[in-house]
Amino acid sequence: MAKSYIRFWGVRGSYSAPFKRCLDTGGNTPCVEINVDGHLLICDAGSGIIPLGHQLIAEDKNRELLILLTHFHWDHISGLPFFAPAFHPKYNINFFGPGESKEIVKKYIDDQMKAPYFPVGTEEWVANISYIDTKKKSITYGPMEISYYSAYHPGITYGYKINVKNKCIVYIPDNECLSLDKEIRENSEGFNNEEIDILEEMNREEYKAEVNTIADADILIHDAQYTPEDYKMKKGWGHSCYTDVINMAIDAKVKKLFLFSHDPSNDDEMILKIHEGAKKIIKDRNSSLECFVSKESLEVSLD
Ligand SMILES: [Zn+2]
Repeated sequence: MAKSYIRFWGVRGSYSAPFKRCLDTGGNTPCVEINVDGHLLICDAGSGIIPLGHQLIAEDKNRELLILLTHFHWDHISGLPFFAPAFHPKYNINFFGPGESKEIVKKYIDDQMKAPYFPVGTEEWVANISYIDTKKKSITYGPMEISYYSAYHPGITYGYKINVKNKCIVYIPDNECLSLDKEIRENSEGFNNEEIDILEEMNREEYKAEVNTIADADILIHDAQYTPEDYKMKKGWGHSCYTDVINMAIDAKVKKLFLFSHDPSNDDEMILKIHEGAKKIIKDRNSSLECFVSKESLEVSLD
């Protein structure tokens, strides 16, 4: 039986960070491989999917691929024009992502490779490409049961939940957790008491829903782009402050949290500091949550 694992191919949010001081963490944008008993699932197609594609061709083990896209911001699709298996007839590549129909998903993917943005269009793809019906509530892929929900991020953005081998893996690369809470604190002077009560109730409901989504996850891969200082200037941009993510993961009794979508301007040293800060919160709250930094090439066993 083939080994089962999660492997990180791209961990940066927003744009690539191919800088010396960032390379311990890695410079590529989001791409995570979930490989279970030889069934290959790819979460997002940022620049990290390019080296994954080359490895797939070199190893020639997996010819059936499912690519889940959380949304169509550039950093999540920028590797597709260079994804070698798409240009090889022996691959079957299935796409799923947010959109009213699979035709729309196809259009979003096609459009980014049209002139003048790119010289080679998707009509040059010779792999067998298919698009999964976007109205499906869940997808069964080999031993994996995949469901999705909306994240707090500009445009329609999904988070994915993958149940496999008695484990629950949740992938949420772009999400501003506690966004309503921040909004209320920021604008509380503009509301009367009654309005504040209503907003607080909405806030509690929203938090409950967010916690429920990740509740008891064995592995949570979550946006943790900002420090509290960064976040002050970047509220509403659709990314999380790492302290909020840690607290939410503790409340949701997550077992392992992988901090993801690192800010490209944060070098390895800064990310180490964020990790230390995260571990301090966990210790102060006396929680058993294990927190890791997502790094390129990091492999997590699912066996
Ligand atoms: Zn985004």
